Amino acid sequence: MRNNQKCPKCGSTDIAAGVELTVGGAQTVHLETYRKQLGGLVQPVEAHSKATAYVCSHCGFIEIYADTPSQFRGANR
Ligand SMILES: [Zn+2]
Repeated sequence: MRNNQKCPKCGSTDIAAGVELTVGGAQTVHLETYRKQLGGLVQPVEAHSKATAYVCSHCGFIEIYADTPSQFRGANR
């Protein structure tokens, strides 16, 4: 949907692009991974990124993309 502005589920071209994900309109949702540690200790954030959604206004299908996907290279392995 991000590249061709067409819903892969229903074929509609009525796509809302670049929709920000928030929690109650107050906080922006971030994608995060955590480094795994033995013993269940608190784990520092390994990678994070804001996320942006593309929403089909016909069927409701949503695609979500990390704004900075390079943050996740090699993360969580
Ligand atoms: Zn759709």
